[in-house]
Amino acid sequence: MRVGNSANTKKLFGVFHPDNMDGSLDRFFLKKNTVEQYPNQPDLTDMTRSEINVLSKNPNGFFLMVEAALIDKFNHPLDWERAAFDVIMLSKAVQIAKDFARTHPDTLIIVTPDHTHSGSISGVVHDAKPGHFREKVGVYAEAGYPNYPKANVEGYPSQIDVSKRLAFFYGNYHDHYETLHPKLDSTFKPAVKDETGKYVANPGYIQMQEDAIHMPGNLPSNQAQGVHTADDAVLNAMGPGSEKFRGFMDNTEVFMVMVEALGLGRNKSK
Ligand SMILES: [Zn+2]
Repeated sequence: MRVGNSANTKKLFGVFHPDNMDGSLDRFFLKKNTVEQYPNQPDLTDMTRSEINVLSKNPNGFFLMVEAALIDKFNHPLDWERAAFDVIMLSKAVQIAKDFARTHPDTLIIVTPDHTHSGSISGVVHDAKPGHFREKVGVYAEAGYPNYPKANVEGYPSQIDVSKRLAFFYGNYHDHYETLHPKLDSTFKPAVKDETGKYVANPGYIQMQEDAIHMPGNLPSNQAQGVHTADDAVLNAMGPGSEKFRGFMDNTEVFMVMVEALGLGRNKSK
């Protein structure tokens, strides 16, 4: 993908998909979802590089927001592997910004989410462990280490359906089948509407995997997806002004720091 590489480009507008773009797990490895139909979707790193190239031509500086929006969009349908791959993609985009900041030390970089989801790693699933399904989840000292292949030069493990996988569980969900396996064919579609309009566990997954566990939802049955949660979010920052991010802050304070860093005004409440 070559966008914004011309030395004279001053404005850029890119639309690459009529719906959500595909995540890095599908684009680089599985080739599922809509990758066959749209094989030339740019990566977030391509877009970040192009945007910085164009915006940095402004002698008065610039503001750039880069969002890895699919992290959220994969967490909603409880597809944590796809979300995790796009976290890797985001961290590569941040590296591009950091490389720019090395030669432009007046750059403030802020990395933060706008909300959380309820997922956490609880241990490691061992296919070889004896017992039925959930007995294969090793926790604490029994967890051991997963056996994903070492990250490739791009920073991604090339395989996720390994015999020792991270056991990742969400705290809020609609009815679904827990398969303890990555969804290699397409993004997880945990629930479908029944004839009464309620969302129920997608029977496709029990057909695919007989020992999948039915998880009765803890959200109202009109919810098609997992929901955002109210945990404290992590914020990382570097560069001039980053020292103003300390301890617990209200999210609206982030805006104030940005305004000051851009020289648009001062936070009078302080
Ligand atoms: Zn969301």
